[in-house]
Amino acid sequence: MSKKVAVVTGSNKGIGYAIVRGLCKQFDGDVYLTARNEELGKQAVKSLNSEGLSPKFHQLDITDQASIDRLRDFLKTTYGGLDVLVNNAGIAYKQESTAPFSEQVEVTIKTNYFGTLAVCDALIPLLRPQARVVNVSSMLSSSAIKKCSKEVRAKFANPKLTIDDLTKLINEFVQAAKSGNHESKGYANSAYGMSKVGVSALTEIQHRQLSADPREDILVNTCCPGYVDTDMTSHKGHKTIDQGADTPLYLALLPPGTKSPAGNFVSEREIKNWSG
Ligand code: NDP
Repeated sequence: MSKKVAVVTGSNKGIGYAIVRGLCKQFDGDVYLTARNEELGKQAVKSLNSEGLSPKFHQLDITDQASIDRLRDFLKTTYGGLDVLVNNAGIAYKQESTAPFSEQVEVTIKTNYFGTLAVCDALIPLLRPQARVVNVSSMLSSSAIKKCSKEVRAKFANPKLTIDDLTKLINEFVQAAKSGNHESKGYANSAYGMSKVGVSALTEIQHRQLSADPREDILVNTCCPGYVDTDMTSHKGHKTIDQGADTPLYLALLPPGTKSPAGNFVSEREIKNWSG
């Protein structure tokens, strides 16, 4: 049997780095620390090497299709598949940012929703039976969906929603933000929150698809890591990166045959209703 392999996106620092650290300690296989900036990625690998851990490195920019395709081809050739995928890479504008809201929406959605989706499109076909996928979302997806109108909430909650439908909804939000009427169209006034609504809703659709997939026992879940001391939070979060990595690691390492959580939003290792 081929060696098992795990990939964590955006793992040169922050929560992703701690997820790689945890996988190196607990996952029986090769663990790939990936970063859009090769130098930062290699430095991060070195720093884990100094703790006696041996992650491998591959470049990955989740907004660059050629970069995603290179990783996919490498995994296919080297391992013939993939066993753990943690979609951790993400961005957030600072609260004090003066960038126009429409720009914040376009850039944030490009990475957090479209980047995550592009990685999934390329790598989910490689997943082997018993693979685990973790999409790192946020509790702010829950606050954002609750601020949407009843009509918009119902569209996201439609149990028959497809990925194409979801992408259409997300694009409608981006267009409305550009026209300055996203709130009157029923969307929340949060670029980051709506990008994570996309990630949380995407997970539910992927769960439905993977449940009907002939490959057995593949689980996809989404989670909030909590409020973590990273660059993203300007180090205001109260959790350490290892504490933030706890729930993503728990989901990435769910044992074979696990029935639940499956397709859920998880926080502090507990299933939460993010959209209710
Ligand atoms: P950081 O800003 O510390 O790290 C984000 C990571 O994502 C960095 O490695 C960054 O790379 C990478 N990244 C950004 N854009 C891309 C891209 N296009 N391609 C590849 N990698 C990219 O953030 P956190 O560790 O705090 O956040 C990790 C995840 O957790 C995110 O999805 C975030 O939304 C989520 N989250 C975080 C919370 C918190 O309290 N910190 C709370 C809730 C959710 P680079 O160094 O090159 O910028």
